[in-house]
Amino acid sequence: MAEFDIISRFFTFGEKPDSVVLDKGDDCALVRSGNATELLAITTDTLVCGTHFLQDIPPHALAYRCLATNLSDLAAMGAMPRWFSLALSLPKEIAQNQDWLAEFSQGLQVLSAEHNIYLIGGDTTSGPLSVTISAVGQVAENRCLLRKNAKVGDLICVSGTLGDAAGALKIMLDQSTPCDIETRDALFSRFNYPSARVQVGLALLAFSSCAIDISDGLLADLTHILKASNCCATIDIDKLPLSPALVRQFGQQAAQRMSLSGGDDYELCFTIKPSDIDKLRATAEKLDIPLHVIGQIVEGEGEGLKVVQQGQIIEISDMGYQHFA
Ligand code: ADP
Ligand code: MG
Repeated sequence: MAEFDIISRFFTFGEKPDSVVLDKGDDCALVRSGNATELLAITTDTLVCGTHFLQDIPPHALAYRCLATNLSDLAAMGAMPRWFSLALSLPKEIAQNQDWLAEFSQGLQVLSAEHNIYLIGGDTTSGPLSVTISAVGQVAENRCLLRKNAKVGDLICVSGTLGDAAGALKIMLDQSTPCDIETRDALFSRFNYPSARVQVGLALLAFSSCAIDISDGLLADLTHILKASNCCATIDIDKLPLSPALVRQFGQQAAQRMSLSGGDDYELCFTIKPSDIDKLRATAEKLDIPLHVIGQIVEGEGEGLKVVQQGQIIEISDMGYQHFA
């Protein structure tokens, strides 16, 4: 069974209490504690050795990346990061390796300090290497970014550049691929140290109400927006933001394919009204983070997602990463 079938069949039960404003199906759950109009945004992400990272990942990067994936889910709701917990499963040899643990701790400290998010607890057990973080942020009930809020006519935008993490993974998996050091460093750092776009998410609250973070690939994640918002979309492949390193290494065409289907970039995909294009440009300039329009939400039922190049529709076979596929 696919990941989402498992969740809907076995982990969707009971009567939803009033305190739950949003559950299963967005980047975070939203819950109300007490009477406040401020909601808690809660997310959990696990990184497992062999699935999400290779054995030789630097411990610093492993910790950074796991916290970044959680911060990215908070960013996708427009939530302000506040607290996180850390559940670690460690093989014995790592539990005895103080250098490893010190480096891992440093990775967490750097990113938690940057986003002012505080480690409140967790769990430490012996077992195969895996890292689980649950993060909690705060967001106003009437002002948050939800997958279901895309409207026909909205422009589809993304932060940063896409496909870099997929490019890095390709090089990691096939060490015989020739690659100059500058390119390799640029792509590896995008895989190991994803930028959680928390500041973008917060800024978007002023003129957007719909976002998702790109963890499984643009096509897969944009499809979640289309499903939740019951609309279709057209993406212009020539508008996808590509890094010079990705294009240098793989060429324009392969880089474009990677930016459509490659996961692990943790950029934000969001929608805005066409009249807010100036606000988009001003935000990109203020934060010094690229924000690009790549397509538009269009009318239609179901999940229709068209990728076009110079007006021609392109057939896409790879829709992105799926667990258990
Ligand atoms: P993301 O990629 O944003 O972290 P996922 O694709 O992991 O989101 O999960 C999609 C949705 O399914 C989320 O809202 C998540 O909370 C929910 N979900 C995932 N696994 C489970 C589970 N085992 N039980 C209940 N809900 C789950
Ligand atoms: Mg997400």
